[in-house]
Amino acid sequence: MENHFDVIVIGAGAAGLTAGIYLSRAKLSTLILNEGTVGGQMVLTHEIANYPGFESISGYQLARNMKAQAQKFGCVIKSNIRITNLELESKTKSVEVNNKEVYTSHSIILATGGKSRTLGVPGEEKFKGKGISYCATCDGDFFQDKEIIVVGGGNTALEEAVSLTKYASKVTIVHQFDNFQALEHYVEEAKNNPKINFVMESKIIDFTGDESLQKVRIQNQATQKITEMKVDGVFIFIGYVPNTEKISDKIALNNYGEIIVDKNMATNIAGVYAAGDSIAKRYRQVTTAVADGTIAALSASEYMNELKKKMVHAISN
Ligand SMILES: Cc1cc2nc3c(=O)[nH]c(=O)nc-3n(C[C@H](O)[C@H](O)[C@H](O)COP(=O)(O)OP(=O)(O)OC[C@H]3O[C@@H](n4cnc5c(N)ncnc54)[C@H](O)[C@@H]3O)c2cc1C
Repeated sequence: MENHFDVIVIGAGAAGLTAGIYLSRAKLSTLILNEGTVGGQMVLTHEIANYPGFESISGYQLARNMKAQAQKFGCVIKSNIRITNLELESKTKSVEVNNKEVYTSHSIILATGGKSRTLGVPGEEKFKGKGISYCATCDGDFFQDKEIIVVGGGNTALEEAVSLTKYASKVTIVHQFDNFQALEHYVEEAKNNPKINFVMESKIIDFTGDESLQKVRIQNQATQKITEMKVDGVFIFIGYVPNTEKISDKIALNNYGEIIVDKNMATNIAGVYAAGDSIAKRYRQVTTAVADGTIAALSASEYMNELKKKMVHAISN
């Protein structure tokens, strides 16, 4: 039964690794399966300055610590794999990996995370984390007295633009349309803020710099005129994509593709839980992913205990 585990966790970001720590420490055999490198979005972050207990830590180091902690308790972690089939409905869940091995478990935690929607223009990949950010709470503090751009015209963009004025000396909102999609009070608040100005009907067409971001080129959508702007940072808030496309036919999702869970992180399928950035929620941080992972693991532990009791009862009868 070496391919059978009490719980399989899919995804080794902050949520999945935390679940792994709690489950293994509770003596439940646990397998974490992860596409790509262990750590998820944490490893994209050069500095995390808001994770309690660490004044400042690199995302890579925090991920390494979490991984080592989970392994210390006996959690098995397999990374750089591809899940090729997933069976969630039956009592014994099964996960096929790389079209080859099949792992089974009584319970599954989905912790597949997500990613911010990107502009997809030249230079964006190069300057991610070097001037380009998708998270004001995470990176706003690095732009004290700097001039920044916020891209987007929805609630998040307008709300975060206002919050970034706590740090930045000037915030320019660049939006592709001539009106905002945000609620009126967010728009009013931004318009009344003396540090914020607006470049409407315009799109960033590329990012340039040397080690870090220095300039953007902006194209007006009505006139096609291109202007160059010097800038210290750009925050992009044009939506969020949960990593649920591969499980969209297996589990209940909301209209945004986020996994629907209750307060115990339980999904619509018995024994299947979800945690972290892939679930329907408002705030996406390492701390919130860790909290979700904890709750999902405790719920899965309780589910396993109930299941074991039922099995013992069935055998003794
Ligand atoms: C640039 C950047 C900076 C940030 N800075 C901060 C910060 O300073 N402070 C803070 O608190 N938060 C920060 N965040 C947010 C924080 O990193 C995330 O909210 C948190 O790490 C989410 O953890 P997660 O485990 O839910 O998901 P993720 O980190 O996204 O991990 C999910 C994992 O699941 C894997 N996966 C996806 N699909 C599958 C599949 N089908 N099969 C197997 N594996 C799969 C992924 O490869 C990934 O490893 C930042 C995010 C970014 C992008």
